[in-house]
Amino acid sequence: MADQDFPQGNLMAGKRGLIMGVANKNSIAWAIARQLAAQGAELAFTYQGDALLRRVKPLAESVGSDILCECDVTNDDTMDATFATLKEKWGKIDFLVHAIAFAGKDQLAGSFIDNTTREGFKSALDISAYSFVDAGRRASEIMNDGGAMVTLTYLGSERVIPNYNVMGVAKAALEASTRYMAADLGPRQIRVNAISAGPIKTLAAAGIGSGRHMFRFNKAASAMQDNTDPMGVAGAALYLLSDLGLSCTGETHHVDGGFHAIGMPQEGPLRESMPD
Ligand code: NAP
Repeated sequence: MADQDFPQGNLMAGKRGLIMGVANKNSIAWAIARQLAAQGAELAFTYQGDALLRRVKPLAESVGSDILCECDVTNDDTMDATFATLKEKWGKIDFLVHAIAFAGKDQLAGSFIDNTTREGFKSALDISAYSFVDAGRRASEIMNDGGAMVTLTYLGSERVIPNYNVMGVAKAALEASTRYMAADLGPRQIRVNAISAGPIKTLAAAGIGSGRHMFRFNKAASAMQDNTDPMGVAGAALYLLSDLGLSCTGETHHVDGGFHAIGMPQEGPLRESMPD
């Protein structure tokens, strides 16, 4: 059950939680799941449709999980059924991982002002931001006091990233929601945080125009001059979801090789490509 790639231990022993957003083995949620399992957590997973069940089931089994719930976050019936299943199987949970986002491909290319439609805006905000509020509320109803929630966001919420467009607006809403949720659930010692990950090659990232340029630019311009390692994101999630993260809530934590901290790269390939 333990995953040798990830630091082993018992930081999550006795804790149970739901992972939302594993599409395949490249998903950020899957790296987080492996890390949590390697630290003794018991996991349940959501998936969308039979095609994904075929991919998610063997992954879930490899970390000892047999709780798989079909769940489309825009469908209240499937959300009701997911949390009812957790209540029936476990009674209580200790954590929630939300790694879900979607915007139509036509919304993720070119001009933001020209290409963002009312329907595209509503759907991106619904699936990528409101779903965390909704899942967080449902999770809180069966969460032990002292539990924790984590969502995944991206720097496109704070700064303009070409083609990220309406997803940047959705991520800004997600980060603000994280703070409001943290305030509401704080008195129960339930912590709510967001991880702002640098670009990682996943299905969702493939939907964003000029993705290859994004990876090259991040590598050249980040403090560490490298792309983001999903294991670093998983490590941050472990910290925020375990008791290591006590007193940390309402935070957006960047795991991006320091890309967010740089105003102008000092040395390295990007600087060298622009002679004085
Ligand atoms: P991913 O593997 O494609 O995961 C995205 C997940 O969202 C998939 O499981 C997808 O399921 C699910 N999803 C989309 N619409 C849904 C809906 N209506 N109901 C339920 N699930 C739905 O990509 P990822 O990169 O790991 O994305 C996880 C999170 O990390 C996202 O919030 C993303 O914005 C964030 N993030 C990614 C990066 C990056 O560079 N990859 C960087 C920073 C933050 P389907 O495949 O069935 O649609």
